[in-house]
Amino acid sequence: MNRDCRREVPHSTHALDDRAHSGNIIMKAICPTCETMIPAAQMNVATDVAVCPSCDEVFPLSLVVGTQEISAEFDINDPPGGAWFQEDFQEWRIGASTRSPAAFFLVPFMCVWSGFSLGGIYGTQIAKGEFDLGMSLFGIPFILGTLLFGGIAVMTVFGRVDVIVADTVGRVFTGVGPLGWTRRFDWSQVTWIEEDNPDYEYSGNSGRVISLVGKTRLKFASMMSDARRYYLLQGLRELHKRT
Ligand SMILES: [Zn+2]
Repeated sequence: MNRDCRREVPHSTHALDDRAHSGNIIMKAICPTCETMIPAAQMNVATDVAVCPSCDEVFPLSLVVGTQEISAEFDINDPPGGAWFQEDFQEWRIGASTRSPAAFFLVPFMCVWSGFSLGGIYGTQIAKGEFDLGMSLFGIPFILGTLLFGGIAVMTVFGRVDVIVADTVGRVFTGVGPLGWTRRFDWSQVTWIEEDNPDYEYSGNSGRVISLVGKTRLKFASMMSDARRYYLLQGLRELHKRT
């Protein structure tokens, strides 16, 4: 972008500032080109203009603005079934189970599918006592499939997602019991919490995740029921507002 193209935005952002800090609504505008957060000084509500400070692109404000609302009815201490919130002096933890009715289909399906494919490909080699390289290579996608979908099947029975924050140190845990995937993040760097599309999709989920947006974008809770994901989203926003 040519610097000469930069347009100045007249400063009449008070209305926006007031709205941005009143009640339970927080506004943000994200540049659709480079995803930079556009500061309030670069927006003008009256003329519906926003300028990205990073790439100098000009957009209609109404197109790029989003609001982050916490329902007045929301009570973090009244989670839906399968969700929880705990707090002590050191840390807080908000999370939910990924248990899902999909388990009734997935678990038997996985047993049959893996049993037949792996049994047929490797079981016959073991039974005959001879190694078949071609067949073994052919079976690799079935092993990966078993690990991936087997993991998902186990998550629909025993899985959970937890967001744990101690001071500014945040962790997102996805897994079963002590086994799982922990991602660390800096809670003080989180500027925005939203529902988002997942990076990958598979059948049987509602196709939405929660994003913690800041320096980086951390997505989680892809296997969550709508009620539990909504609770996590609203709970995290409320916790974020406290800091
Ligand atoms: Zn930009």
